[in-house]
Amino acid sequence: MSNTEATPITSHFNALQTLIDSACSHANRDSDSVLLLAVSKTQSSTAVAAAYDAGLRAFGENYVQEGIEKIAALRQMYGAHTAKWHFIGPLQSNKTRQVAENFDWVHTIERMKIAQRLSEQRPAHLPDLNVCLQVNISSEPSKSGCAPNEAVHLCMQISQLPRLKLRGLMAIPAPIDPTGDTSAQQAPFVALSQLHSQIKTALPIELQNDFDTLSMGMSNDFEHAIAAGATIIRIGSALFGARDYPQKEKT
Ligand SMILES: *Cc1c(COP(=O)(O)O)cnc(C)c1O
Repeated sequence: MSNTEATPITSHFNALQTLIDSACSHANRDSDSVLLLAVSKTQSSTAVAAAYDAGLRAFGENYVQEGIEKIAALRQMYGAHTAKWHFIGPLQSNKTRQVAENFDWVHTIERMKIAQRLSEQRPAHLPDLNVCLQVNISSEPSKSGCAPNEAVHLCMQISQLPRLKLRGLMAIPAPIDPTGDTSAQQAPFVALSQLHSQIKTALPIELQNDFDTLSMGMSNDFEHAIAAGATIIRIGSALFGARDYPQKEKT
């Protein structure tokens, strides 16, 4: 995989980086304050390797088994500890052990039971697992994430668990009306950012520095998320192209 020609992923990555840079400069932020997380769900190990060759080093996976297979494949090709793996899908308790043993981050904690299991199951030889609380910021019925008014309390509890490092908040806002105005499109991101500030000041002082992450923004709305303070944007289709097997996305 030492191909130096511009692959589609390289050109998508370059185009995205230009948009990220300009969104950052509009917001008076440094470009390196935003991590581009390559969401590789449904993509092959070959596609992930091409993204790695293009320079991407952080990958997001939604399905445990599929993610673990790609982690193993990339380790074989490039060695351990080269890429960081973020779990960003719904997490059931019977899958927490595999996630605790294989991933570096979990963005989708929404209740204490899952956090407790990850804390107990994180292997001793690995660094603390980075975690974010997922918030249902648009308060959509039957959507993932805790209610915004539960977030402070849950963060206080999660921050006390050993082997977890509470890093921040994550949200998937309701789809925006593309004809609406900019402030309406930014509103849920601004709300998550304000909740983040509120929680940060409520946390014990020695834990506040670690609480530095706002995981928000996807292919269609990352510029609004950056304007509102996103530190991790989760990008799938704008990087890899349209996903092949959409039936898997129903979960
Ligand atoms: C699939 C997915 C993404 C990426 O979505 P795109 O619109 O393809 O960029 C981001 N975050 C989560 C949680 C996802 O499931």
